[in-house]
Amino acid sequence: MALHIETPLIESGALASAQRKVWLKMEALQPPGSFKIRGIGYACEQYVQRGARRFISSSGGNAGIAAAYAGRRLGVPVLVVVPETTSERARALIAREQAKVIVHGASFQEANAHALSLVGEQDAFIHPFDDPLLWQGHASMIDEVRRAGVVPDAVVLSVGGGGLLCGVLQGLRRNGWEKLPVIAVETAGADSLAQAMAAGERIVLPAIASIATSLGARQVAQQAFNEARTHGVRSVVLSDAAAVAACIRFMDDQRVVVEPACGAALAAVYGAVPQLDGCHNVLVIVCGGVTASVAQLQAWSERA
Ligand SMILES: *Cc1c(COP(=O)(O)O)cnc(C)c1O
Repeated sequence: MALHIETPLIESGALASAQRKVWLKMEALQPPGSFKIRGIGYACEQYVQRGARRFISSSGGNAGIAAAYAGRRLGVPVLVVVPETTSERARALIAREQAKVIVHGASFQEANAHALSLVGEQDAFIHPFDDPLLWQGHASMIDEVRRAGVVPDAVVLSVGGGGLLCGVLQGLRRNGWEKLPVIAVETAGADSLAQAMAAGERIVLPAIASIATSLGARQVAQQAFNEARTHGVRSVVLSDAAAVAACIRFMDDQRVVVEPACGAALAAVYGAVPQLDGCHNVLVIVCGGVTASVAQLQAWSERA
């Protein structure tokens, strides 16, 4: 039994236009709130089969929550090391899944280094995006689209470290859809893929300067960079304001709350970015995310 659920694939009247149908793959409805459980759930099952007795994560975001959820379901203890900057909300969501939360260091780098130092022989370290097992697990969302009988002519998704991108590309390949255009959306200040593609090398952002914290990988995975180039992924960078506005609009349109990290992909469709020109049947990965509350979204929206 997989740890993720098969999510609805909804044809959206609200996001469609006269010349474009839009299909929403509703990963926001996964029990831990995001697509992450597909890859992390699969990886955790594999690690248990290989003898792991504990999972260690350093993500205060959706990856940490997914790891905690997977551990509870599998009966395996989970330790999540987060930096002091991690919100009370995220800590509470991780603790609610019965994982142990340790707060260490001022930044993700310090928390991550501490988490790695704690990994013993019987532990599995659960990376938020850079693990082939994760990509294999994420790919199942494309299998479901294919089984539903929907044939898209483009895919829109958000990119942080690129785990979702690698998973979707793998899913497209194994379903014979490798030629579909893929539109990879980031927010300005978290645009490590866009800048890497422009520079022709895997640059490291000096810092993350976006409210879309789930997109905040300073450097994308090597595999994501390589695959984005060979596939010809179309990169889009939008503002935080556009991402938040899309979250608010989506709440009204589809009655579902998502984070700005997911709002970025929605904003590309709401705003009909030129990278979508000529696409008439668009699949949007509604990746979800639970680390931003409705009140937080409204506060950001009023400030913008
Ligand atoms: C993790 C995450 C992303 C980015 O995924 P990557 O695999 O890091 O590219 C986007 N949106 C949400 C809600 C996430 O949790």
